[in-house]
Amino acid sequence: MLNIVLFGPPGAGKGTQADFLIKNYNLIHLSTGDILRSEIKEGTTLGLEAKKLMDNGLLVPDDVVIGMIKSQLEKNPTSNGFIFDGFPRTQKQAKELDKLLNQKSTSISVMLSLTVDDQELIKRLLKRGIDSGRADDQNENIITNRINEYNIKTTPLKDYYRLQNKLHEINGIGSVSEIANKLNQIIDNL
Ligand code: ADP
Repeated sequence: MLNIVLFGPPGAGKGTQADFLIKNYNLIHLSTGDILRSEIKEGTTLGLEAKKLMDNGLLVPDDVVIGMIKSQLEKNPTSNGFIFDGFPRTQKQAKELDKLLNQKSTSISVMLSLTVDDQELIKRLLKRGIDSGRADDQNENIITNRINEYNIKTTPLKDYYRLQNKLHEINGIGSVSEIANKLNQIIDNL
């Protein structure tokens, strides 16, 4: 199996690149942000609770997102592999993901980490806010909170995967196809 952690701050381009990777390598895309937004749309209890946190740019509790990923892994027993997008975001999530994959006799193959400076991220997210109407992209304070959450709680995960020789960092500034080519090369050399 090919299991990819697609990593980077909000606005780094994870979703865009995931679209190419799922087609090229026949993978299943698991975005915790997308799953949470669909829960909100459906008005579930989980969605309503998550919305309060997401609207403030704060992380949703680990157990909630871990449960979501667990059920998605169970729903797709015969996949070629998965792209984890926006997950894991904390040490606890990373450890639980390892356990879940271990139960399937598989593991994370690689972490692809897109790097983009804060100023560019804010610019991209505000533009996405206008284009998509996403509430958490429309307010600079919320965006700043998300970047702070990323810097404090999520960035340390690079070390977690670096220690396993799985971390690859890619400059996330450039054309979409340039970046996609770089990601393909890394995967093809694994
Ligand atoms: P972005 O990467 O642009 O912030 P996402 O769609 O990945 O967008 O996430 C949106 C929000 O959903 C986050 O700010 C957070 O509140 C919540 N969220 C998504 N994934 C996780 C996760 N793995 N752990 C905790 N909260 C999450």
